[in-house]
Amino acid sequence: MKYNVLTLYPEIIEFYKSVGIIGRAVESEIIDINAVNIRDYSKDKHRRVDDEIYGGGAGMLMKADVVYDCVSDIKSKSNAPVIYFSPTGKRFDSEMAKEYAKLDEVILLCGHYEGIDQRAIDLVVDEEISIGDYVLTGGHIAAMVFIDTVSRYIGDVLGNNESLSDESFENNLLEYPQYTRPEEFMGLKVPEVLLSGHHKKIEEYKLEKAIEITKKNRPDLIE
Ligand code: SAM
Repeated sequence: MKYNVLTLYPEIIEFYKSVGIIGRAVESEIIDINAVNIRDYSKDKHRRVDDEIYGGGAGMLMKADVVYDCVSDIKSKSNAPVIYFSPTGKRFDSEMAKEYAKLDEVILLCGHYEGIDQRAIDLVVDEEISIGDYVLTGGHIAAMVFIDTVSRYIGDVLGNNESLSDESFENNLLEYPQYTRPEEFMGLKVPEVLLSGHHKKIEEYKLEKAIEITKKNRPDLIE
């Protein structure tokens, strides 16, 4: 999978692609992350990319021509879908991430300031995605969430030790509580059953706890 990230903060994406599981996946060439600076497409002598909003309203908006030129340049080398991150988009979840993980390449357009002139969105964007019901300062944060989540569903990105099957949201359940050494910490003991070596009982315990926490924190998942 190749992710093209179009943003005003390519340096944040450059750092992100150099660390942790994502860093390893990039190094092993399982995924590729191409950070593109939208500002490079400004024709303004001060490299401005934003302007005031027609009809009033607080803040500034990214200009249509700069965004259009940037996306068009990347699209001229690829026919990947263009995804725009926006609070007004469709809500992102793990099922959506699994579908995107099947693609070879995506173009991720990040908004900044108050967002992007609607005409650029109408001309170049294929899909709009929101990562949740809140407003971020910039789309680069949503892009990192997207890359992180989608990449976990790409074969070989996670090592053998990291299994997807018991994770939260698989089978509409949240993950059960987990423990590591020592067996006792500040008077709190690891539940006996997890030390028993009895696999069937351990599995039953995990399921029971997963249902318990899901009912408590996310009853909507069980419904
Ligand atoms: N004026 C916009 C609104 O009220 O819908 C918010 C703009 S926000 C300050 C700047 C940029 O951050 C957006 O263009 C978008 O790219 C990104 N962003 C903010 N919240 C987001 C969310 N929940 N999901 C995805 N992207 C988001």
